[in-house]
Amino acid sequence: IKEIHVVGGGLAGSEAAWQIANQGIPVVLHEMRGVKKTDAHITEGLAELVCSNSFRSDDHENNAVGLLHYEMRALNSLIMDAAERNRIPAGSALAVAREAFSEDVQKSLEDHPLITICREEIEHLPSAEEWDNVIIATGPLTSDALSQSILKATGEDKLAFFDAIAPIIYKETIDFEKAWFQSRYDKGDGKDYINLPLNEAQYDALIADLTDSEKADYKEWEKDTPYFDGCMPVEVMAERGHETLRFGPMKPVGLTNPHSEDQPHAVVQLRQDNALGTLYNIVGFQTKMKWGAQKEVFRKIPGLEKAEFARLGGLHRNTFINSPKLLDATLKLKSKESIRFAGQITGVEGYVESAAMGLLAGRFAAAERNSKTLSIPPIETAFGALMHHITGGADAKTFQPMNINFGLMPDIIGKNPETGRKYKKAERKVAKTVRAKEALMKWLQDNDLTQIH
Ligand code: FAD
Repeated sequence: IKEIHVVGGGLAGSEAAWQIANQGIPVVLHEMRGVKKTDAHITEGLAELVCSNSFRSDDHENNAVGLLHYEMRALNSLIMDAAERNRIPAGSALAVAREAFSEDVQKSLEDHPLITICREEIEHLPSAEEWDNVIIATGPLTSDALSQSILKATGEDKLAFFDAIAPIIYKETIDFEKAWFQSRYDKGDGKDYINLPLNEAQYDALIADLTDSEKADYKEWEKDTPYFDGCMPVEVMAERGHETLRFGPMKPVGLTNPHSEDQPHAVVQLRQDNALGTLYNIVGFQTKMKWGAQKEVFRKIPGLEKAEFARLGGLHRNTFINSPKLLDATLKLKSKESIRFAGQITGVEGYVESAAMGLLAGRFAAAERNSKTLSIPPIETAFGALMHHITGGADAKTFQPMNINFGLMPDIIGKNPETGRKYKKAERKVAKTVRAKEALMKWLQDNDLTQIH
C-alpha cells in the first residue's frame, strides 16, 4: 500500500500518524525540530507540550473536553493512552509528566513497524504528483516557508495572529493581608478570584510603569501581525488610554475589600490556573514586557511584593487557516484535494482539540487510501461538533480559534424526563454527554469501527 505523509510531529501529527499506521498503511512523519527550532518548543521530542502540562478536565459526564477525551479513547488514541500512562495527580483534570509523555509518544511511533520519522522542514505544500495523500499538522508555529506556500495556495492574505499569555504566580507567595478571594458580584461559587486593590496613586504608577517598561523585541514575522481581540497585551491597553484598564480587566466594581473600608480605585484580579489551586494567572495581563521588567513592575502591585512567578508572560504566534472557507467536511483543502489539515492550524484551540483533529484527519486519510467510506461524526458528538464548527458551522468572516464546548452541540429540547421540568444548565450538560455517547456508538457501529485497534 502506498504511504501517507504527515507533516508536523506535534499533538495532531503524532496522533494522525498512529491512526493511519494502525489501519495497515505506511506513514512518513516529517518533523522539522532536530534540524530547525520553533519559538516555543524546547526539546526535539514529538508531541511536546509547549506550555501547560494539562489536558484539562477528564470528566466525561459534565464537561465537553472530558467528553472529547472519552471519544478519543474509543478510537484508540495514542495521545490519550500516553497521557494515561504518564498521568500525575491533578484532581479531575488529566495532567501529565510532560517529558515522559513526549518520550512515550515518540517511542510508540518509532517502534511502530509502519511509521518512518524524517527530521526535515517541509517548505512547500506538495503537489498531488509528489504526495497524493498528505496531512499538514504544523501547528501554531508553522515554519515561515510553509506558511508562505499555504498563503499562496489558499489565496488568503494572512495566516498569523498574536496570542498572548499572562504571567502565572504561586498562590503561596501572595500576601493575603492585602488580597482577598471573591468573584465580581459573587458570581460562580463567590470566591473564584484573588483580588488586589490599588489606590489612585498606585494605579497611576502602574500605568506609567506599563507604558515605560522595556518590551521584548519584535521579530521579523511579528511586524505586521495583528493582535487577537481580547488578547491585547496589557501595555498596549495602557497605551490606549489612562483609564482603559480601569474600565476593563481592572474595574473596581462588584467587589468588597474585607481589609479596608476605602473603595479601591482599581483592582487586579488573579484567576486559578491549575487544578490544585496553587497557581494563579493575572487576568488581562498578557504582556510582551521583558521578563526582568515584568517582575519589577508586577511586584509593585499591593499584595504581590514577594510574588514568585511560575511563568512570565509572553506573546506567541498563532497560525491558522480560514477553515470554514477552505476545508471540506473531511478536513480536505477544497482547492487541492490531496491535502488535509489537522490540529491547531485548522482553527481549533488546545492540545486535546488539536489531537482530536489529528485523529479524525488520520482516520479520513486512511479510509480514503483503503477505499473505505467513513461517515462524518454526528454533530451530537464532541468530535462532530468541533469538526462541523471549523468546516462550515463557523462564520468564515469572523472565524477565530475554538475550544470544544457544549455550545457547539445542538440544544437538548423538551423536558427532563427525570424531573418533568425544563432542563437546568447542569442537567443539560449531562444530557448532552449521554446523547453524545449514544451517537458515538451508533457512528462506530455504522462505520464498522467497534473492534478497532
Ligand atoms: P504542535 O504541537 O505545535 O505541532 C506542530 C509540529 O509541526 C511542531 O513539532 C513543529 O516543529 C512542526 N513543524 C512546523 N512547521 C514545520 C514544517 N514546515 N515542516 C515540518 N515540521 C514542521 N494549548 C493548550 O491546550 N494548553 C496550553 O497551555 C497551550 N499553550 C500554548 C503556548 C504556546 C506558546 C503556543 C504556541 C500554543 C499553546 N497552546 C496550548 C495551543 C496548542 O494547543 C498547542 O500549540 C498544540 O501543541 C497544537 O498542536 P498541533 O499538533 O497543532 O501543533
